[in-house]
Order: sequence, then structure tokens, then C-alpha cells
Amino acid sequence: MSTTTANPWDAPAPEAQGRPSAFGLLPEDLEGAPGRAAHVFSRLQRPWTWREEGLCLNREAREWLAASYDTSLPVVVESHPSEDGATKVVLRLRDGERIEAVHMPREVRNPRVTLCISSQVGCAMGCTFCATGAMGIKRNLSAGEIVGQVLALIRTLGPERPHAITLVFMGMGEPLHNLDNVHRAIRILNHPGGLNISTRRITVSTSGLVPAIEKLARMEPRPWLALSLNATTDEARSRVMPVNRVWNLGRLREALDAWGLAPGEKLLLEYVLLAGENDTLEDADRLADWLGDLRHGHNINLIRMNEHPASDFRQPAEERLQAFLDRLKARGCFVTVRKSRGRDVQGACGQLLK
Ligand code: SAH
Ligand code: SF4
Repeated sequence: MSTTTANPWDAPAPEAQGRPSAFGLLPEDLEGAPGRAAHVFSRLQRPWTWREEGLCLNREAREWLAASYDTSLPVVVESHPSEDGATKVVLRLRDGERIEAVHMPREVRNPRVTLCISSQVGCAMGCTFCATGAMGIKRNLSAGEIVGQVLALIRTLGPERPHAITLVFMGMGEPLHNLDNVHRAIRILNHPGGLNISTRRITVSTSGLVPAIEKLARMEPRPWLALSLNATTDEARSRVMPVNRVWNLGRLREALDAWGLAPGEKLLLEYVLLAGENDTLEDADRLADWLGDLRHGHNINLIRMNEHPASDFRQPAEERLQAFLDRLKARGCFVTVRKSRGRDVQGACGQLLK
């Protein structure tokens, strides 16, 4: 993480200097639009109402929008279908920057889709196992760009209806480093007049920015939280995730306590297994100890390290992963192994690199 006082991630998105994106507007921002604000909002946010030639709005409303706002979406410039059904998509933003997202259909009979989306161009956090971290940070995405990313994916690859969508902020960037824009995007995506995606189907994954976790805990609507833990001692965690030097495991655990789970809500804990770094049975025991009385409100996701040229870390042997999993289960943890999707097209976790 950068230690300078000027935070590069505070740089405004370029649209702040030009016309802002219409897809970043809430109904209250559309009060002056010809016709009802709610109608214009829903035409912007419901891709199944769009026509070939664009938004299904009368000329007056279209001209009103075009005078102050940009109604173009991020452009899908590359699409890489993987053998497993997932598709990695590269999107080009207005200033030419590129971001990546992954479209992951689940079960053919009951078609549901998980969209893994980006929150920043690059990332400032510098985790040593992550390809995005190796890029450094370029800039934040605006709320309009985050929403536009979702709409562009749906328009290109489906699904037609939003009830089948799950969103995970697990693409490029640290969403809590861009909390205001990410939260505004969530308000728009969750709005009943738009896609109406339930907050139970929106997960924000963080490397552990404690003040932002505490702030998000009190925000409405509140998405589900995932924490990338990835180590069980402060020494090891600070080595692989520099953010731990600022907010350590003890502070993180307090922040999770303060989060306060709603009925039925779970905390997701992501743990990337790195051979020789965090994959011993002692690590599994320490992880279970650290969880303590969170025992009933969590799901641990073990992730195989996706190897890439920007990191020397390797994934552990399968027996080692199995032993780690068995130990956690024996300690009463709820744990699954993540099936990495899109590996063959560099679309899996931590491989998103421009
Ligand atoms: N910045 C956020 C969200 C994006 S990263 C965060 O760190 O949580 C999404 C997930 O990918 C995180 O859990 C991260 O630990 C994991 N990840 C990063 N690099 C990886 C790699 N090379 N292999 C497997 N998972 C990785
Ligand atoms: Fe950023 Fe997450 Fe990658 Fe860490 S793991 S560098 S926080 S994207």
C-alpha cells in the first residue's frame, strides 16, 4: 500500500471533468427530466426495455439526458469464453482505460449468473500473490462506470432478467478504497425501479480496510461482506498483504464483531492457499481460533492460488489442501473449496491483469 500522503486512489474519475454517466443517476437526480423521474430511471436501468437504437425514451427525455449526461456504456472490447462456461470480458472506459469482469453462469437447468466485477483500474493494496496488485492503482471507477459495467455484461451475455444475478465485487481493485462510488452503485443496482438486485446477492470483498468496513456496516442498503484473510499470524499476513501493517488481525476481528450480522446473513472469509506460506495445520487451527464465536455466521472459502508470472507463490499439493480443509471441518468451521472459473482464459481470482 502507498505510504505517501497524496492518495492516488482519490483521483477523480475522468467523467468528473466531462459529462457524468447517466447510469450513475438515482431517481432523485432525475427530478427535472421530462416525464416521470422513476420512468426515466427504469428505462436507463432495465436493459430488457432497450431498443436496437438505444434507450426507449421519447425525444424530449433523450435530448434532456444528452444535454447533461453521457448515455454510452463501457464497451466490451474482448470476450474470452472459457471451457467451463465462464467468460472473461475486457471493457473499455471512456478515457481508454480497461477493466475486466467475469461472467459465470451456474447450472444450466436453473440459469443463474454470477458477475464478478471491478471497482478500480488496478489496485493500491499491493498483495504479493495478486496480479492486479502488481499493476498498482490507476484510478477509481465512478458509480456510473460500475453500474455501466453490469449493464454492458448483461446486454452482451445475459441473463435477461435480474432475479438470476449475483454480484461479487471480486474483480480488479479494492472496493472499500472506493467506498462512496461502490455504495452509490449498490444503491442504484438494488433500487426497485431498476435491476432490483437484492443485497443478499451482492457481496463486497475487502482486503481489510477497517475504517471502511466500520462505515459500510452502518450504510443502507448494506451488501454482504467478504474478507480476504489469507494468513493467520500478523507476521505472515503483513508479508503477503501490506494492509495488515495498518490494520492487523486483532483490529479486523473487532471490526467483524461490530459488523453485526442480520438474521440469515453470513460473513464470507476468503483464504488463498499459498504453498509454504499459509497452508499448515497450525494455520488451520489458528484460523479456527481467530474465528472464535463467529463459528455460526461464516463461510470459509478456500481458494487455490492461481499462479501467474507476477508472483512466485504456488498452489499447495491437493493432499495438503485436503488436510487443511479436514482440519477446519474438524474444528467446526463451515468451509468449501472454491471452484475457480475461467482459469484457462486468465479470468480466475487474482489473475485479472490488463
Ligand atoms: N480487493 C478485494 C477484492 C478483489 S480480489 C480483496 O482483496 O478482497 C478477490 C479475491 O481474489 C480475494 O479474496 C483475493 O485474496 C483473491 N486473490 C487474489 N490473488 C489471487 C490469486 N493469485 N489466486 C487466487 N486468489 C487470489
Ligand atoms: Fe488488491 Fe484484492 Fe489484489 Fe489485494 S487481492 S492487490 S486488495 S485486488
